[in-house]
Amino acid sequence: MRVSDWSKSVIKQDQIDKFLVNGKSFIDDEKIFKNISDNQNPDKQFIRDIIQKSLDIKTLSPDEVAALMHVKDPELWDEINDAALKIKQKVYDNRIVFFAPLYCSNLCVNNCLYCGFRNENNKEVRRILTMDEIRRETEAVLDQGHKRLIMVYGEHPKSDVDYMADTIRAVYDVTRKAPVTGRDVAIRRVNVNAAPMDTEKLRKLKEAGIGTYQVFQETYHQETYNKVHPINTVKGNYLWRLYALHRAFDAGVDDVAIGALFGVYDWRYEVMGLVYHALDLERQFGVGPHTVSFPRLTPALESHLSTDSKYMVGDDDFKKLVAVLRLAMPYPGMIVTCRETPEMKREVIKLGCTQTDASTKIGIGAYQEAETLADLEKAQFTIGDNRSLDTIIREMAGMGMISSFCTAGYRCGRTGDTIMGMLKHCVEGKYCKLNAVLTYREYLDDYASPETKALGEKVLAQEMGQIEGNSFFQKNNKIMNQFKLDYDRICCGDRDIYI
Ligand code: SAM
Ligand code: SF4
Repeated sequence: MRVSDWSKSVIKQDQIDKFLVNGKSFIDDEKIFKNISDNQNPDKQFIRDIIQKSLDIKTLSPDEVAALMHVKDPELWDEINDAALKIKQKVYDNRIVFFAPLYCSNLCVNNCLYCGFRNENNKEVRRILTMDEIRRETEAVLDQGHKRLIMVYGEHPKSDVDYMADTIRAVYDVTRKAPVTGRDVAIRRVNVNAAPMDTEKLRKLKEAGIGTYQVFQETYHQETYNKVHPINTVKGNYLWRLYALHRAFDAGVDDVAIGALFGVYDWRYEVMGLVYHALDLERQFGVGPHTVSFPRLTPALESHLSTDSKYMVGDDDFKKLVAVLRLAMPYPGMIVTCRETPEMKREVIKLGCTQTDASTKIGIGAYQEAETLADLEKAQFTIGDNRSLDTIIREMAGMGMISSFCTAGYRCGRTGDTIMGMLKHCVEGKYCKLNAVLTYREYLDDYASPETKALGEKVLAQEMGQIEGNSFFQKNNKIMNQFKLDYDRICCGDRDIYI
């Protein structure tokens, strides 16, 4: 099939229409602007009530979110920031989950003005990884100690859903010997960041063993969306993208991830867009997004927009939007990526982020190949943090945080509304704590440098103490005994045990 014919076959109008209400989407421009303008001068007490509502682990209304974004008083911002961390601790404890991105292909039929992979960028060297190359990339990522990948693809017939499913299976098939102990290790969860698909294709991803399906709306502001995604491209269809994750639910993929590319349009509007998106998923499927992402534009090859956008988000506003999102939606994980610098990552982890990437390479084939300048130019955008996983884990340990490689939830069927229900009752966090300890033990034994291991042992001792002293575990003897058994087995060399 010709590429242009393939592009025309992607969108299924009936799989958009079925989600609309009276022909309208959940993004109502007028309503969002009204939310924003009605809440420009929020009263101090109103803000404190909102903070309290978030601390009670309740989702905020759009008006409440808009009010938070307009706070000017620095003292109130301190309260908001404190609350953001407390909410994270209540729902997710002091864990940070690690993953690595694996860029599979930069072939793309689209022309997003901010992206180095866009079709009209003739300077981009195009490449799609073979299954052998996928396996070698996986080996290189495993050698760092990762257990969780997010696979990233441009939109192109050569990287269609069958290719994606093959790459996912190829990743799961790889086993490797851990460098310190020589134990067998493998990737345990493969998430996907790829263009919107129809439900039939999404079912194929589900069969291949996809964890979370992630699609960023880029901008929720339709007028701007149309400007930066030319209308004659597949991505030019705003509604096809807006309902990508609704279709995922229809296809049985119930861990979905939303995000906006901050810097394309006004950040306050994008925060509102994310909130309305989460609310609509909750309304239509009874469960919100698994994670929320807030990538900021970074310079991309041959993209003026990526450096000159008038909506670039400064560091102060970025921190505000992260804290507001944490208060707005207490349950989803929040992801900060290596687009940010180490300093900024540290700051926003203190504002409630729960996941981050490490030892990241975003060039196609970049993990297995020597990193030359030419490789860097092949990347989709520039990154602000290329530190190794070991370095970042050590840093987290220094901040008193435990790094988790837990993938149990998805493999035990704790996904979608099951996991959300457990998060809401702060039960999932309990299992995660145990699984974090088990996977941290594995990492420290299999991969950690002596400095990281020394710090990590202190974190583990602190976690063990908390588990022993926690009334939930004291009351649940069965779980506790199982955990102790599993921990001992891991110390003796067993791997991939979870609760
Ligand atoms: N082609 C698929 C799509 O567009 O959904 C897959 C992913 S694209 C390779 C991953 C994400 O990178 C995009 O959704 C976008 O938000 C982000 N991105 C693109 N250009 C960027 C830039 N210059 N700076 C930061 N993030 C960028
Ligand atoms: Fe292609 Fe995705 Fe880049 Fe757009 S953001 S040009 S769709 S890879």
